[in-house]
Amino acid sequence: MAATTVEPALTLDQLAVQNLAATLRGALIQPDDPGYEEARTVYNAMIDKRPALITQCATVADVIAAVNFARDNNVLVAIRGGGHNGPGLGTCDDGLVIDLRAMNGVRVDPAARTARVEGGALLGDLHHATQAFGLATPSGIISTTGVGGITLGGGIGHLTRQMGLAIDNLLEADVVLADGSLVTASETENPELFWALRGGGGNFGVVTSFLFRLHPLPNLYAGPMLWPVDRSAEVLRWYREFITTAPDDLNGFFAFLTVPAVAPFPEELWNQKMCGVVWAYTGDTPEEVFAPIRSQFGPPALDWVGPIPHPALQSMFDELYPTGDQWYWKADFVKEIPDEAVDIHVQFAEQLPTGKSTMHLYPIDGVASRVAKDATAWNYRDAKWGMVMVGVSPDPADNEHMIEWTRSYWSALHPYSAGGAYVNMMMEEGEDRVRASYGEHYDRLAAIKGKYDPNNLFRVNQNIKPV
Ligand SMILES: Cc1cc2nc3c(=O)[nH]c(=O)nc-3n(C[C@H](O)[C@H](O)[C@H](O)COP(=O)(O)OP(=O)(O)OC[C@H]3O[C@@H](n4cnc5c(N)ncnc54)[C@H](O)[C@@H]3O)c2cc1C
Repeated sequence: MAATTVEPALTLDQLAVQNLAATLRGALIQPDDPGYEEARTVYNAMIDKRPALITQCATVADVIAAVNFARDNNVLVAIRGGGHNGPGLGTCDDGLVIDLRAMNGVRVDPAARTARVEGGALLGDLHHATQAFGLATPSGIISTTGVGGITLGGGIGHLTRQMGLAIDNLLEADVVLADGSLVTASETENPELFWALRGGGGNFGVVTSFLFRLHPLPNLYAGPMLWPVDRSAEVLRWYREFITTAPDDLNGFFAFLTVPAVAPFPEELWNQKMCGVVWAYTGDTPEEVFAPIRSQFGPPALDWVGPIPHPALQSMFDELYPTGDQWYWKADFVKEIPDEAVDIHVQFAEQLPTGKSTMHLYPIDGVASRVAKDATAWNYRDAKWGMVMVGVSPDPADNEHMIEWTRSYWSALHPYSAGGAYVNMMMEEGEDRVRASYGEHYDRLAAIKGKYDPNNLFRVNQNIKPV
């Protein structure tokens, strides 16, 4: 009688993993697989996490299978959209990453003026698709950012004053919940979940599809205008009054930066520290609007403000900020910028620690400020700016110095802030900071979390504890 070969018994975990792999249309990547290093890499090179499993989901069914697997096997789960999160909340150590990158389809309905966007699309995918119809929806300023993360946290960008936050244009979302069910959230279906999704981050489930309202964008006149850093105090004092009284069709975020030593920047400006405003004007009298700005302080050192297609504006800074840089940031909402705060800004602008480090003040007034405070989970409708100071460098040797600069700058200005921060521009800073950011909305969010994710399956995020 021939001897039979007995295969070693499989553990339940291995069996479960094999079953998961067999269920998926997309790939299941494990640490020994050839694609693992690429698959686990996220935008911020400071984040070096090693998940045990990465499901590269291709379909909603894949997402449901991955969520059920994580829940049934008690495995930590992270949701990855664009992978841009500062503290790396799109990945985790030893757990399962639900990687949505392959789910990046966008379908524009030009008649209804809507875009249906899959949960792993990037801003560039969205803007490319809508531009073909002369339509747009507001989002961020770098096209490689994920629609998923930026939208669920709020979504501040070039068109905030004209069109509101990204969430103000969200009409509907399909969500895979912790129990594996798929639901639609909108003003009429699961309205409490819809309220929470608009600002509450990835706390409530995996969004597989977003439906956005689109706006006609016939004119866009935009780009950076820079002045030398020694003019910072007068430029910032002028800017704080000017932008908050400007009509809604003009957006402009203030920045401190160093001019990169590369073409097409003029060579005489290379490595010079600057202050400036990145404008986005959507009205039809640009020359009239910009003439006084251009002569306010004499001719700007650099003036790249002109007619530009929306996707070009959205990707203007992509090459300066590629995947793989070290990245550390801290943020706060700001209601006013008193003279003492201006002086602190100027002091830290003169000490920008690396060529890529920067500080941005993003307007969140205009249309965004006229949405009722309790209409969404986003708590700071009455703030004027989202402020963020960012240490960035390709070289890890700069980390200590740039982290120190970022923390000191933030600490010096925090007393002048509104208290909490934009969750999308925070590191992992503890529960108190999350509470401060959601303010009076926190308890309602915690109750909704308790209903939709009572065991906190989705906790790799700026976490709201379920009640
Ligand atoms: C270079 C750069 C530029 C940026 N510019 C802006 C800007 O202009 N405006 C702005 O508002 N923010 C901006 N941000 C911040 C950005 O909004 C956050 O980093 C955001 O978390 C990125 O989303 P992501 O999908 O790329 O990230 P990921 O790391 O993939 O995910 C981040 C978080 O979002 C959740 N998430 C992502 N997708 C989904 C989904 N489909 N369903 C459920 N949860 C999901 C995850 O749970 C995770 O916690 C920028 C960030 C970077 C690095």
